[in-house]
Amino acid sequence: MFVDGLHIVPHADGTVAIGSTSEATWTDPGPDAALEGLLARAVKAVPALAGAKVVSRWAGIRPRASSRAPVLGAFPGQPGHYAANGGFKIGFGMAPKLAEVMADLVLDGRDSIPRDFRVEALR
Ligand SMILES: Cc1cc2nc3c(=O)[nH]c(=O)nc-3n(C[C@H](O)[C@H](O)[C@H](O)COP(=O)(O)OP(=O)(O)OC[C@H]3O[C@@H](n4cnc5c(N)ncnc54)[C@H](O)[C@@H]3O)c2cc1C
Repeated sequence: MFVDGLHIVPHADGTVAIGSTSEATWTDPGPDAALEGLLARAVKAVPALAGAKVVSRWAGIRPRASSRAPVLGAFPGQPGHYAANGGFKIGFGMAPKLAEVMADLVLDGRDSIPRDFRVEALR
């Protein structure tokens, strides 16, 4: 389910994933109090979740560049190193194509990186 900006994802093992919060600044990379609001909204959307045991809480740092576009290409100042990052919220869907483009560059020297995805496009 996608409701009120919230993902509620039932798993085959009977657990349910709920996500997610998004913060641009943080002091601690772990889960914080913002998750309480998330749970409250989930219960409002799916009352059957009321009282469900919280199995685990998880937080990570999403790789976002200064734009929302991925960042691909030779790493400036470090010959033989490459960047393929910045997937942020589209990285899962984009990963196969980005891998193809990077393999072309790294293995065959063929550069077909879209303009907006280039390291030089970073502001
Ligand atoms: C906290 C967080 C939230 C995110 N949320 C979203 C989201 O909501 N939607 C979305 O679309 N994307 C999201 N992303 C981005 C998405 O996860 C990535 O863009 C995507 O996983 C990139 O895929 P990849 O295959 O290029 O790299 P990865 O998924 O990083 O896979 C690389 C793999 O290579 C392995 N590896 C590394 N070095 C070696 C080595 N030397 N030998 C063998 N194996 C190695 C690693 O262990 C890893 O399994 C999120 C990322 C993070 C961190």
